[in-house]
Amino acid sequence: MKLTYEEVYRRSIADPEGFWGEEAERLHWFRKPEQILDASQAPFFRWFPGGETNLCYNAVDRHVLGGRGDKPAILWESPEAGRSAVLTFREVLREVNHFAAVLQNLGVRKGDRVLVYMPMVPEALIAVLACVRIGAVHSVVFAGFSGEALAHRIEDSGARVVVTADAGLRKGKPVELKKIADRAVELASTRVEHVVVLDRGISPWAAVPGRDVRWDEAMAAAKDAEVPAVPVESTEPSYILYTSGTTGKPKGVVRDTGGYMVALHTSLRLIYGCGPEDVFWSTSDIGWVVGHSYIIYGPLLYGIPTVVYEGTPDSPHPGIWWEVAAKHGVTVLFSAPTAMRMLRKYPPSWVERYDLAKLRHVFLAGEPLDEPTYQWAVETLKKPVVDHYWQTESGWPMITNHMGLPPLPFKPGSPTKAAIGWRLEVVDEKGDPRPAGERGYLVAHPPLPPGALQTLWRDDERYVASYWNYFAKYGKRLYFSGDYAIRDEDGYFRLLGRADEVINVAGHRMGTREVEEVVSAHPAVAEVSAIGVEDEIKGEAIAVFVVLKKGVEETEKLHGEIVGLIRENIGPIATPKVLRVVPRLPKTRSGKVMRRVLKALCEGKAMGDLSTIEDGASVDEVRAALEELAH
Ligand code: AMP
Repeated sequence: MKLTYEEVYRRSIADPEGFWGEEAERLHWFRKPEQILDASQAPFFRWFPGGETNLCYNAVDRHVLGGRGDKPAILWESPEAGRSAVLTFREVLREVNHFAAVLQNLGVRKGDRVLVYMPMVPEALIAVLACVRIGAVHSVVFAGFSGEALAHRIEDSGARVVVTADAGLRKGKPVELKKIADRAVELASTRVEHVVVLDRGISPWAAVPGRDVRWDEAMAAAKDAEVPAVPVESTEPSYILYTSGTTGKPKGVVRDTGGYMVALHTSLRLIYGCGPEDVFWSTSDIGWVVGHSYIIYGPLLYGIPTVVYEGTPDSPHPGIWWEVAAKHGVTVLFSAPTAMRMLRKYPPSWVERYDLAKLRHVFLAGEPLDEPTYQWAVETLKKPVVDHYWQTESGWPMITNHMGLPPLPFKPGSPTKAAIGWRLEVVDEKGDPRPAGERGYLVAHPPLPPGALQTLWRDDERYVASYWNYFAKYGKRLYFSGDYAIRDEDGYFRLLGRADEVINVAGHRMGTREVEEVVSAHPAVAEVSAIGVEDEIKGEAIAVFVVLKKGVEETEKLHGEIVGLIRENIGPIATPKVLRVVPRLPKTRSGKVMRRVLKALCEGKAMGDLSTIEDGASVDEVRAALEELAH
């Protein structure tokens, strides 16, 4: 008989070492761990210290050696390029071997950083797997980020090599990645020794002699290479993934090797309910944490095919996702509420015309799942829709229904209960538990389970300050998620949005400070405030309010320049939905911008208590600016 969620969860909390120690035995170790958890340096938690393993070996070699080499590993679909491809585990092993040799030939050694700035092509996965094969640390940067954003990540990570492509494709238009990468390499104050370029024949590019290497040529030169997977200490980093925080500087989340591997493998079985015959499709991008965990590592570690999709949900037609899911017999689909909101605009016949008999579960994450979208998805797809909550830092779900165990009853609007290994609580500002049904901060009690972030890249202090210090003055060491939540009488959580200045645009996280810092660099700008406002499709969108320096006139050109700055410095994903010039920002008497007032004005909602405002007229000015430009 299957154990219940309560039984498994309780064990994972009462005896984490016993629980995770057993889970670790399902994977290959070059050297067995000496210990399961070392919490002596809390809040730095080291899982499986003394153990040596390799993510690539476990995700690829292990399956080939186990006689599953002919099984499909990567199912690539690119409606953008009008192409598709299937790579078996054996083929992936061959390619990864070659690319590992390419990296070695370029001087990349264990511990070196490699930045991957790639579209959704199989080679992106090959590059990532080749890095971990030789113990190099990858940092994947979403291919929608700008040259400036890329340069910052190059500098911060100290990457020696950048892997990119001539171009990605977005709604038929090329995004010239190589040119953006060139600019980033030039801007960065640290030196990139080599840029490897996958030439897809989309966009012409010029090679920088001595620096640039063509993917195909380098791979051909390495065609006889065999690069064994190197043993990597469990606690050594596998990757750095940058995410937005409350300051302008993105945080480099550091992931370990062994803990992450074990957590993902377990999550495939117990949370996603997978067996050996499953086919997994996460519609995210490799540039985000979901892509790392559930396009690349999770499915491959588990030995099942992963769909890699280059395109948008509704092009060339709004049934394309269901067409792809039917074609490959996808059993588990992982997507975001934004995509569902977008697809909801089309008649259900777009879903009904495809055979989705094999599809068992649809998982959604990344942002709050509103009830109408949830209902639409359940009614249209006729499958259980599992809202689950997690973040870049956690690496895998923190709150979810476990589809590999007898599922708990669903409650729309709630991602259900704490995931195995996570001791979650809703607390007040002193870190004391809130009564059921009352709003508070979502925290996790230490130790964090395997797979969660280890620290921030070369910034242990910021790690402690960003996640562990909120309740320290009340003597409590709790991991703060940054989110507001409620826990109901049954122990179900409801997420109520960010408690900090982080916004969530279509499931992509952005710091309002990031946008503000960029805009304030414009010489005409005296003051700026960026906020997140409701958006029907994207969940949230960015609104920017600007006060100009004295004597500067508001012109269309100026608007264009400000938007251009944001796009150039962060990327098109940060393009504001609303940009308004106002004579002043509503502030409290102590001089703090009243962001909630700006938000209420944008959303046409009640403004709440205005007793602390310095000058009520500023509210009318913002309202006028919003109305004036609305027509
Ligand atoms: P990211 O690190 O970019 O994945 O963003 C993580 C943040 O997205 C979380 O801290 C939440 O604010 C939000 N989030 C993720 N999943 C959910 C969910 N299922 N429901 C509500 N908010 C979510």
